[in-house]
Amino acid sequence: MHAIGIDIGGTKIAGALVDEKGQIVTQLRKPTPAGDSKALEDIVVDMINELADGTDAVAAGVAAAGFIDATQSIVYYAPNINWRHEPFRDKLEKRVSVPVIIENDANAAGWAEFRFGAGKNTSDMVMLTIGTGVGGAIVANDRLFRGGFGAGAELGHMRVVPNGLPCGCGANGCIEQYGSGRALQRFANTLADAGGIGQALADVRSKNGNYLHGKDIGDLVDQDDPGALQALRQLGDWLGQACASFAAILDPQVFVFGGGVASAGEKLLAPVRQAFLQTLPARGYHPEPEFRIAELVNDAGVVGAADVARQHAVATAK
Ligand SMILES: [Zn+2]
Repeated sequence: MHAIGIDIGGTKIAGALVDEKGQIVTQLRKPTPAGDSKALEDIVVDMINELADGTDAVAAGVAAAGFIDATQSIVYYAPNINWRHEPFRDKLEKRVSVPVIIENDANAAGWAEFRFGAGKNTSDMVMLTIGTGVGGAIVANDRLFRGGFGAGAELGHMRVVPNGLPCGCGANGCIEQYGSGRALQRFANTLADAGGIGQALADVRSKNGNYLHGKDIGDLVDQDDPGALQALRQLGDWLGQACASFAAILDPQVFVFGGGVASAGEKLLAPVRQAFLQTLPARGYHPEPEFRIAELVNDAGVVGAADVARQHAVATAK
């Protein structure tokens, strides 16, 4: 039994026909039409119809950044697209031959890791996606946690510093401001300003017109540059402390790290683990979860969206 997954990103829309084992059978890709929600709808409709044509596809899941309502029908708010209370599911179902559900993109990616990647063979998983911001997904007792209104699991907006740095969400002191790719750039810039171990960071920054790209920091991490590693340790320290709070509430068996910064692998996980163990409430008595890097990377959105849609179709058919 196959299902279709669509992942609407900021720059591209990915679509795939996915089997029950999470394997991609067919794949499509188109650029996201910026600021044109009707053109975007047309592309998603065409993709679903093309992928479903001549197959046994039972459902389509569409992943997008933003708040989705609890019935997985309406996008309350999407940061990248001009949607406010958009009844996207109804609009799509009128134009395609399979039932549709809408899923938050971080939830879709988390579900894919839980079913087929770094979280498989567990019942409780927390995933943090460390990109420009900090995305989150929670699986509790084998189920994706969405909250009562569908807007839960926004782990990046847990407050870690009272009256801390202002966040894009309108609050202050969210972990996103201390544990994201942007925070890593801030730490690296401070080290570059100070010289010493930050000298290599300062050199590459001045070569790039006084701007430190995430990729440059990543390259220096790969070369074990002491300044870049120090910036990554600062980031890991914040994330490890946040995970200790998540563990106190959710008690997952595994924390999965995805997103661009997670490509640092063990160099990120080691300081996360260390800070986690130092801050974990009731440490010494609380069983230790594992810390792993995400496995599905670019395909997680489409694979997760397809699997969520398939499970929903199977459950409603019963
Ligand atoms: Zn926030």
